[in-house]
Amino acid sequence: MSSQVHKREVLERAMAALCVEAKKAYGLVEELYGEGIRDGDQLMLAAKQLRLELLQAKADLERELSTWIADCRECYRRVHWVAGIAAEPGHWAHAEPAPNHPPIL
Ligand SMILES: [Zn+2]
Repeated sequence: MSSQVHKREVLERAMAALCVEAKKAYGLVEELYGEGIRDGDQLMLAAKQLRLELLQAKADLERELSTWIADCRECYRRVHWVAGIAAEPGHWAHAEPAPNHPPIL
């Protein structure tokens, strides 16, 4: 495995782990609201800060991934990273119209 492939996979795994944690942080905020805890409360501020920091770390990783350009091993078309919204993970996609298959890196 080349070090570039290894680095990309490490970034992808870290991004996926951050998505899981960010979703938990969203759940925590909802749970606190459910318990009647309001926006100005220290507990709510801490939960929202945690969520924000996880999303910022995820965005940093996705920005790094989006600088990567590869060619699909199936169809040789360009492949690029498409960032996910909020806590949703991003994914690789063909950068141009392509046959109906997921990109293979
Ligand atoms: Zn392809």
